[in-house]
Amino acid sequence: MAHPSTSGLETFEELLKSSISLPKYQRDFAWDIEKMKQLWDDLRAHLFAHSQTLGNSLEKYYLGAAVTDDSKGIKVVDGQQRFTTMTLISCALRDALIATENVKDAHDIQQKLICSISNNTSEYVPPKNKFTLLDNPEGHHLSSEYRLSPYRDRIVETPTGMITSEFSDSKFISIDNDLSSKILWSVDEKERWDFLLWDSRTKEFFGGRENVFQTTKNENNILSFNSNPPNKIFVDRKVDVIPQGLKIILVNNVNWCPNCKCTVKKRDCDFFAKDNRNFYLYVRADIEQLILSEKKYSPTKGIANNHFSTSLNLVQDTPTKLVESASQFPKNPKEIIFYEDVPDMEPWPSDGEIWGMIKEFPKSSENRHVELKASLRYPFYNGKIRKKCHLMIQSCM
Ligand SMILES: [Zn+2]
Repeated sequence: MAHPSTSGLETFEELLKSSISLPKYQRDFAWDIEKMKQLWDDLRAHLFAHSQTLGNSLEKYYLGAAVTDDSKGIKVVDGQQRFTTMTLISCALRDALIATENVKDAHDIQQKLICSISNNTSEYVPPKNKFTLLDNPEGHHLSSEYRLSPYRDRIVETPTGMITSEFSDSKFISIDNDLSSKILWSVDEKERWDFLLWDSRTKEFFGGRENVFQTTKNENNILSFNSNPPNKIFVDRKVDVIPQGLKIILVNNVNWCPNCKCTVKKRDCDFFAKDNRNFYLYVRADIEQLILSEKKYSPTKGIANNHFSTSLNLVQDTPTKLVESASQFPKNPKEIIFYEDVPDMEPWPSDGEIWGMIKEFPKSSENRHVELKASLRYPFYNGKIRKKCHLMIQSCM
């Protein structure tokens, strides 16, 4: 599916500039998890093979043809399987970015590819889905739109950028405008959102995870991305004493149970559609691992086959939990040891030979790609940086 970029082709983002939905006569979403995984694996393999320069030149990935009918508003006529899968990928990417404290990038994806919120007009504009499937039977657990819709919402706890100042005995939370950044997330102005207070010093929620504050209807409480934080957030109960420096974290508005294995619709779980859920978790774990991990391989004498010295660090101090990404994840540690054979590369190969090996790796072998990425991005050998390594990275990746 990889294809060189050609001018005149529209990107996924451009196609979604005005929202699109399926016409009634179109067939419904029908891909199973294997088909969805195939698209993600192929996209990821493309990224590894083409876009690992230290610069910004990303080679585009060809998603295939999508036929649209512009006559009555924009409708997808063909491509709904890929659009649905790309929506789930976008949601997983958004949440992986939030969980790794890249909230601004996550908001960008939310607005451009998933569901846009506009609070900046005099008239109320409801949130607008970028891509909508058929809702048939309407609001029913068999409807593919109903099964997709929870992923567009806030699944993970999201930092707002606001930080508390010290105060006591009031029905509001006071904001320290010097410590706070601009607002990092948009919330529909009609939503009375809930929040928690994260203490970065203790790495715990202030008063525990149960200590949820509910906002009241008040124009101070409207959150719009990139706006200045208000001085106060009004809440529905009296607050005793709040210290300075706590992060205000939006609580998710989607229900799902821990380690969800649901297969039927439940009141407290929106993630009952098994293939969607498993695919979302699969992609999110993958991305979190790629963002946070730094794979290390420290050979003592050149690079040897069957060398068990590769490790992966996942370091995270944020209020949003990572999904339990690697199957190798032991109970608590930050370092994961990968018991995987390192390809036979002894002695240190020439740049041309490494490039040859990269090209020969099977697409399914994700760990080996990561391995090479780490070796090439941090190309130390015997404590010295390899000659011309940046040139090689540029030309190979
Ligand atoms: Zn569940």
